[in-house]
Amino acid sequence: MIDKQHIIDRFVSYVTIDTESDPKSNTTPSTEKQWDLANKLVEELKAIGLSDVTIDENAYIMATLPSNVDHKVPAIGFVSHFDTSPDFTGANVNPKIIPNYDGNDILLNKEEGIVLSPDYFEDLKLYIGQTLITTDGTTLLGADDKAGICEIVSAMEYLIQHPEIKHGDIKVGFTPDEEIGRGAHKFDVEKFGAEWAYTMDGSQVGELEYENFNAAGAVVTVKGKIVHPGYAKGKLVNSMYIATEFINSLPRLETPEHTEGYQGFFHLHNMKGAVEKTTLEYIIRDHDKSHFEARKEVMLKLAEELNTQYEKEVINIDIKDQYFNMKEKVEPVMHIVDIAEEAMKQLDIEPIIKPIRGGTDGSQLSYMGLPCPNIFAGGHNFHGRYEYVPVESIIKATQVICKIAELTAEKYSN
Ligand SMILES: [Zn+2]
Repeated sequence: MIDKQHIIDRFVSYVTIDTESDPKSNTTPSTEKQWDLANKLVEELKAIGLSDVTIDENAYIMATLPSNVDHKVPAIGFVSHFDTSPDFTGANVNPKIIPNYDGNDILLNKEEGIVLSPDYFEDLKLYIGQTLITTDGTTLLGADDKAGICEIVSAMEYLIQHPEIKHGDIKVGFTPDEEIGRGAHKFDVEKFGAEWAYTMDGSQVGELEYENFNAAGAVVTVKGKIVHPGYAKGKLVNSMYIATEFINSLPRLETPEHTEGYQGFFHLHNMKGAVEKTTLEYIIRDHDKSHFEARKEVMLKLAEELNTQYEKEVINIDIKDQYFNMKEKVEPVMHIVDIAEEAMKQLDIEPIIKPIRGGTDGSQLSYMGLPCPNIFAGGHNFHGRYEYVPVESIIKATQVICKIAELTAEKYSN
């Protein structure tokens, strides 16, 4: 049995340390304060008895739980990130523990009248009777992804205390700066030494993901020409009108607010305009690689057409790939998903396998040679004041890690 209070204490000890990352910083980790938790984790991993505990100059933490079987088993890894999202403050997190949740509104903050309500967040109803950890309404919680860290540490501790559970080499990896898209960048896959790994960074119990978006960003710059409006006939070129043409020529229904599942989109997320210059910032997303390439092509073609129409280079477009669908790297080694699915089933957890409408560290790691599906960590409503996590979900994820370790050793035993 995994002790509930022990899990709560461990989780609280992580979330009360501020580790907000900062996209404007050029250092790794992006914020000095991430070292506070990183250094604590190193000490904790040593204290529970892991081997080869290291932290590098960028605060990437790695450790090993050595195999306890004689036969050869591929080394597998578990990865999570210790930074929290800069979307909402992570300073002075004051977690609230709500035992035996009754299914009603939860008053997070009396003074500010902030309520976590199942009328709006229906998922809460899944957890009636369980112990919830919430915020006090003024910060995020940081279950993303300190729940993942708590699960990995607790699973390693459990396996060390229960040598009767047989497993191969297990690698642990904790990263900074995932929330600003730089969690995998400086991850030393070779040093990590696992054949495959799992990020513990999903949400609801049962989530198991190995498909994510292909992603690119596009910056469209439209040049105009300013002339005194009183004398402008035939001379003035208003970049904002041309930019509007560009916007309206893209399919209006292929945007985030009109798509779901495997449907891709163009998302205009920022625009700045004046007569002389207008800048449009888009993100392009699609699970399907050929559709993804076609979307980029559509934007380039459109720019070309407008340039021809205006008989000069009014539009410049700069498209940069951001990350790719890990499916391409995971499908050839599908047994790594199957093992996770089997582990959940043996624990009476119904696997929820669906495409991620976003990316994960795992997608980058997969392209760096470490195939890396994503597993639930248990939290909900990430990146804001309504974030919460049921303790029972943390325990289930901990059990899934132990079970994956066990099944992997079993699978390679003959
Ligand atoms: Zn996360």
